[in-house]
Amino acid sequence: MERRRMLVFLFVWVPLSLRAQSVGPRVFTHADTLRGSNTPQRAWWDAAFYDLHVKVNPADSSITGYNSITYRVIKPAREMQIDLQMPLVVDSIVQDGLELSARRDGNAFFVTLIAPQRTGTKKTISVYYHGKPTVATHAPWDGGFVWATDSLARKWIVTANEGLGASVWWPNKDYLADEPDSQRVAVTIPDSLIDVSNGRLRGTTPSPDGSVTYEWFVTNPINNYDVAVNSGHYAHFSDAYQGERGKLTLDFYPLDYHVDTARKQFAQVKPMLQCFESWFGPYPWYEDGYKLVETPHLGMEHQSAIAYGNHFKNGYLGRDRSETGHGLQWDFIIIHESAHEWWGNSITMRDQADMWIHESFATYAEGLFTECQQGKKAGAEYTIGQRKIIRNDRPIIGTYGVNDEGSGDMYDKGANMLLTIRQLVDDDARWRGILRGLNKTFWHQTVTTKQVENYVSRQSGINLGKVFDEYLRTTKIPTLEYKLEGQKLSFRWTSVVPGFAMPIKVTTSTGTLGWIRPTENWKSGAVKLDRPEDFRVDENFYVNARDILKPAADSTTARRDQ
Ligand SMILES: [Zn+2]
Repeated sequence: MERRRMLVFLFVWVPLSLRAQSVGPRVFTHADTLRGSNTPQRAWWDAAFYDLHVKVNPADSSITGYNSITYRVIKPAREMQIDLQMPLVVDSIVQDGLELSARRDGNAFFVTLIAPQRTGTKKTISVYYHGKPTVATHAPWDGGFVWATDSLARKWIVTANEGLGASVWWPNKDYLADEPDSQRVAVTIPDSLIDVSNGRLRGTTPSPDGSVTYEWFVTNPINNYDVAVNSGHYAHFSDAYQGERGKLTLDFYPLDYHVDTARKQFAQVKPMLQCFESWFGPYPWYEDGYKLVETPHLGMEHQSAIAYGNHFKNGYLGRDRSETGHGLQWDFIIIHESAHEWWGNSITMRDQADMWIHESFATYAEGLFTECQQGKKAGAEYTIGQRKIIRNDRPIIGTYGVNDEGSGDMYDKGANMLLTIRQLVDDDARWRGILRGLNKTFWHQTVTTKQVENYVSRQSGINLGKVFDEYLRTTKIPTLEYKLEGQKLSFRWTSVVPGFAMPIKVTTSTGTLGWIRPTENWKSGAVKLDRPEDFRVDENFYVNARDILKPAADSTTARRDQ
């Protein structure tokens, strides 16, 4: 039973990394480069507006539609890359009333342009398409369309496509570093269903053929993987939150038979917003509102329309990932996915390899929410509890330019790296200022790891380069080797990147933690310990510690439960 539970848990939690690992050493293809890099046919244009229209046909699991892409010309070009994944079919590509030709290279279309593309001008190109999009069988960990039914056997159709990419169901520049400034999402479905997509509903238009079009509009930049169809038998209730930027509308869309349960569970949204605004600054999408939409899959951070499938239970499907009990006090999907509105949706990685910017901060946010609700000690315990899930199998940062994400350790190890850095900052007001400052500085932007690293180093006044290198770019855990001889403590770092010199807190006198400044070379200093056993390393630091005089009896903060 225990074993089975563990397998199920691993399955639902880490398949994205398993998928990459199952193929052994990762070999990247030409298609990966087309998908994950800023190709010459992408670099010359900047997406300004996606005008997406999709008709969903449940009868044969097909879709048909078009996306009119308005873009700014950065420099003149004759060829344009637009992504649309097989088996979908492009019917035509039109600019200025002329149909254009294109050559297909896997999931990329290279369109030959006729009209001159003058620097600084705005142009529009429309891509008409149809077909049966890839079906997601393990959403949200694979991607595509989910053709589900609810417990009353009624249609429930949603999309999820992080990682795989939005081009699995609609044509766009499927490249993280380029977001449109705004987007329309017009979804046509049978009129028995209600569609909830991103942003605000501008209107519904019924058709004589028994379909209805829901026109949603996002007035902010949006990650294309966040654009979603959610069509089902939804109920709707609303609320409002008085936040840092005024009134934020809250709209909730559970299935109609879940309204009462949802009203109770979704009461967690206001304390979540209060906690996260205090730590991260204003919710990033007041104009587009905050929404929770029930989905047949577990959840996804679909911008301003969070996908929710945690069965109205606290924890992660009723479990506490930290195994401290603290995680059973709140709903994992409400807290984690909403944290992505700041970390991931407002501040977005420019390359899939830097996905830790989304997941490390969102996972750390779980600890901060625990702190808001249950106190600072509980918050730290929650994050420390997640160390058991860390694998140190491969680096957190993946390979650049090929749409490759790094280790699943970006969640729990990344959160523990941030908890460690908070100790180094050693000033909660400053730490809050850094988290809020990141959101202010990179508000609605796409960023690189280096930008985030440099910001945190600059604002903390500490050069954290080696700390980031160690935790993000290696699978090593810093190990503090030490020995106690009377009241003399000797110590050094091992299992670290060259030059690693992170200060750390240890028991310098019985009952008191003080700073030491280890390097890779042995250093020593005086301590005042009543008994040698009084010595410990502050467990808020994600490190190992090894008493070299007692090699068999490791004291670790990193793997205390193993
Ligand atoms: Zn996440």
